[in-house]
Amino acid sequence: MSKLRIFVKKSLFFLLGERLANHIILYYRYHREKIKRQSWYEYHLNNLRYFEVHLTEHCNLNCASCAHFAPLADEIFADIEVFERDMNRMSELFHKNVGIIRLMGGEPLLHPQLLDFMYITRKAFPNLSTGIYIVTNGLLLLKQEEIFWKTCKENNIRVSVTRYPINLDFEKMVQTAKLYGVLLDFDGISEIAPIKTMCHRVIDLSGSQDYKKNFKACGYGNGCIFLKDGRLSTCGLSSHFQHFNKYFSQNIEVTDADSIDIFKSRTAKEILRYLASPIPLCRYCNVHARTYGNTWCVSMKDIKEWT
Ligand code: SF4
Ligand code: SF4
Repeated sequence: MSKLRIFVKKSLFFLLGERLANHIILYYRYHREKIKRQSWYEYHLNNLRYFEVHLTEHCNLNCASCAHFAPLADEIFADIEVFERDMNRMSELFHKNVGIIRLMGGEPLLHPQLLDFMYITRKAFPNLSTGIYIVTNGLLLLKQEEIFWKTCKENNIRVSVTRYPINLDFEKMVQTAKLYGVLLDFDGISEIAPIKTMCHRVIDLSGSQDYKKNFKACGYGNGCIFLKDGRLSTCGLSSHFQHFNKYFSQNIEVTDADSIDIFKSRTAKEILRYLASPIPLCRYCNVHARTYGNTWCVSMKDIKEWT
């Protein structure tokens, strides 16, 4: 530490006392490191605001431009033992202090052990301040047995339905959830939401984009934080690219630098700093060419849907 820094630190301690001085020093670091989408308060308390995790890679709906490449994925179910190990580690790292956890896919209701995943998640994060959501396209929701709704209720797990333009009885979903005392929303809105539109996220196959500028401009970086096989990534693209690469015989390079190992990381702060930084993979996103509000349609599995 430079002499000037030591002098400033000592002066602050002398003038303001240790507690207040430490707060000011942390606040300065927070701004210097430009922590994206993490409030000062959350950062200070080592609180991870949000993360999501897949229960399945595949889906029973086939949406064009799916951000998780589910239409291109093989039938892959999450391994419950890996999931439990990772949830317990997350709980340990963040002192059970995570804002929102979304269990999604693909389509999570396809997983035959869905209820076990729900119990494990709530057991690892018992505080009700952690909102746990099942995120579904709704296709299988009204086919769920009573035990599904009772498990949601018992574990205080909410159901979040994305309203695609498909013929489903959304009103009945609302009534069923009410009957069992389960909170249900439509992409975060309590009323039956407007029909979902799609975003066309444009991949630059040459990987020649400015990764730092992309990360700064991207709405997903440190927003859609994603957990997979013991690693956290700032947006999940590093996990999803495997399906794109395999289906289209591409070779988009995903390395360990695109995610962080939650078992090798020693502190929550180390992870929070990592998640707020650009990753090499950002060079494959043409953020400024993205278009939003596109009409939903079925995927033809054409590479143009993603490029
Ligand atoms: S429902 Fe969701 S996960 Fe499934 S294909 Fe559509 S966008 Fe992808
Ligand atoms: S890789 Fe970077 S630019 Fe692309 S979606 Fe993720 S955070 Fe955004």
